[in-house]
Formats: sequence, structure tokens, C-alpha cells
Amino acid sequence: MMRRRELFGAAMASTAVAAMVSSKEADAQAASARAARGMPMPKIKDLKVIECAPKGSRLTVVKVITDQDGLYGYGCATFTQRADLIKPAVDLYLKPLLVGRTVDRIEDIWQMSYNSSYWRNGPVENNAISGVDQALWDIKGRMAGMPVYQLLGGKAREGVDLYAHAEGAEISQTIDEAKKFMAQGFRHVRMQVGTPGMAGYGAPRAGNRIPAIHDEPVFEREGAKRRALALFEAARKELGPEIELLHDAHERYTPTEAIQVAKDLEQYRLFFLEDVLSPEDIIWFKNIRAASSTPLAMGELFNSPHEWTPLIKDRLIDYMRMHLSQMGGLTPARKVAAMGEIMSVRTAWHGPGDVSPIGHAAMIHLDLNITNFGIQEFTPFNDAEKAIFKGVPEMRGGYYYANDKPGWGIEIDEAEAAKHPFRKDPLNGGWGVIRLPDGQIIKQ
Ligand code: MG
Repeated sequence: MMRRRELFGAAMASTAVAAMVSSKEADAQAASARAARGMPMPKIKDLKVIECAPKGSRLTVVKVITDQDGLYGYGCATFTQRADLIKPAVDLYLKPLLVGRTVDRIEDIWQMSYNSSYWRNGPVENNAISGVDQALWDIKGRMAGMPVYQLLGGKAREGVDLYAHAEGAEISQTIDEAKKFMAQGFRHVRMQVGTPGMAGYGAPRAGNRIPAIHDEPVFEREGAKRRALALFEAARKELGPEIELLHDAHERYTPTEAIQVAKDLEQYRLFFLEDVLSPEDIIWFKNIRAASSTPLAMGELFNSPHEWTPLIKDRLIDYMRMHLSQMGGLTPARKVAAMGEIMSVRTAWHGPGDVSPIGHAAMIHLDLNITNFGIQEFTPFNDAEKAIFKGVPEMRGGYYYANDKPGWGIEIDEAEAAKHPFRKDPLNGGWGVIRLPDGQIIKQ
């Protein structure tokens, strides 16, 4: 009890509002401490879905509430592009399955949830399972009075090395952005540039639209490839040899183009080339591997062990990038990370703005613990997010640091969350189409 109060006492703020929150926290922690001292194991009383969009992206968090006062946990279940489907998956299917179960059996609950739909490894239900799974780890940490990274075995590093996103419509703008991150201490920067006239990925567009025989956003592969090579030629000249540079191809190339890109970029010594193939084409990784020494990162779109297992087993990629709030949560992620350690495949979990701060915290706790950590994608939290998610990981000098509070170390202010509802737009968060000049749809 003393230890728990000391841990939480360190976090108390000086304002009256913060004092009220802290007092609630202390009550919650006292309740969870009772659970940890031989009281009957807490049971799941309710699952609640918290939805908000403080930065535009639709964020979904599952709150698992126990039958012991003040004991609960949070897990990220975000699927921005189909955000309205997560709440029904939790309310209509996981809630009836899980209410009344004890919270300690995380592995058992994961297997139960995974098998309950018979058809498995699909988005939406994977996200819902991820939310419940992360919330149960949060609860276990709160009961133990420990951050989750301690439950996993403790820290293997002091902080989590990050890569930032530099992007611009022009090459000079991207390079200027990279210099700003380098000045903040970042040692790794992802470089994206717009291609004039095209709907590129990860950077704004300049110039007039390229010719096309349709009116929707247009993309042309060869032009994009030439532009990416020009970016890295200029970046190495201007930024020097020491900075680690990354690039996301966002699955836009054909398999043979992907081989060419990996070979052509070799001279610029990338830290990694990401998503140079789409998940449907992963059998081609062995051809790229044989042709090029450019390090390869893949996995943010993977749903299933059928996708990541062959690439890791055969050492065809250097970095696994699965999305913890989509693959099923911390439980499968730590298993795949352990497999990667044996095969010398490192981690680079997917950490964009469409992961909630709870999901970022889950990745960071795992990053702190595993030996084969590679790099973590950095997304800054804005003020609205920080007002909702109190205790988000802190970035200093290009590293993320977790706080040392129990569980993920984050409390959610639900009244603040309610001030930022999902916005309405024609596609409800879904992505629009991008077409080749002749009108054919491309993957994006
Ligand atoms: Mg990506």
C-alpha cells in the first residue's frame, strides 16, 4: 500500500482539479491493492468503449471495468478507417463472452476471444480483441503496482529510440524538416516528398495534375520512383553520412519495381525501406533479399500469423512492423517479438497518429523490455490528446520514456474525450481512391 501511494504521490499535480483526479487515482489504487492482497480475484463487470478524435483520427479505447471499485484498465482498439464498427464488435460479441470472467487469465481470454468468431484474423474483431487484451495487461499492472514493462521482465534499455517524419512538397522542404528533427536530437528520420502533380503518400503535392483520363487523384509509379531517388541523393549530400534515413514506399510498386527501388537506394544506406511490397505480394521478398542489401521493414497491414511467420522464419525482412492495436494486442506481439529475437529480426511497431496514446504506451512498454527492439515510429501528442490521456509517454532528445506508474501509467479523462467526438465526413474516415492515369485503382 505504501509503495503504491508513493508511486502515485509522485505524480500528483498542484492544481485543485488535478488534486481531485489524484484523489480518485489513490482510491482506485487502494482498491486494486486490496485485490492484490488475497481478496477474491476481480471479475470483468463491464466493457466500455471510449471514442474520441482529438487530432482528427478516430481513436477507440476499450475500458475493462472490474467488480472491484476503482479497478479498471484501458486498451487501444483503434481502426480509424472503419472506426464505427469497433464498438458493436465489443458490445455485441466480446462483452457477453467476457463479463463474469476473472481478469487474471489474459492468455485464456485472448484464446477464447480469438476462437469465438470461428473465422478469425480479420480487422475489426482483431482490433476489439487488441483493446481488451491491452486493458487486461493494464489491470494486471495496476494490481501488481508495477508498470507493464516490469511484468514483462523489466527494462532492457533506458529509453525508446524514435524516428520522426520529415515531409514536404519539395525536396528542400523535406530536408529542412529533417534538420529540425536532427536539432532536437533525433538520430533517425523518415523522408517523404510529394511528386509534382500526383497523389503521393506521406507528403503534400506540388504542381499541376499530371495528365490522366479520369478526374480522381492520380499516381504514376515511375515518376514517384525517380522522385524518391532524387530525394535521397539530395538528402545524403545535405544531411551527411551519420543520420539514419528511412523511407516508406507504401506498397505502391509492382514486385519488379520494388526490386529496382531496393537496389537503387542501396547507395544511400537506408536504415530501412518500408512496405516496398503489398501484403498480397510478400512471396517476392525472397527476390528482393537476393538482389539487394537495403534493410527491409514490413508488417503494418498484417492481420494474421500466416503473414508474419514466413517472413520472420526465413529471415526475409529486417524489421517487423505489426500494429499492436490491430494484431490482437500485447499478447501476440510479445510472442512474435520473441520469435524475431531468435531469427535476428528486430521490431519497428507501427506508431502513426491513428493509434491512441494507450496503444503508443503499449508499444513503448514492450520496446523497453525486448532485446530485439529496432526502432519506434514517433508521433507527437497534441494538447487535446494530453488533456484526455493523462500520463502519455514523454519524448526527450529523440527517445520516448514511459512513466513509472502502474499498468500503462495513463488515466483517461472521459469528459475531455467527449469534447472531441468523431467528425462526420462523406467516407466516415474511410480512405478515398487513387488511380493510375488510365483509371486503374492502386493500393495505397
Ligand atoms: Mg507505413
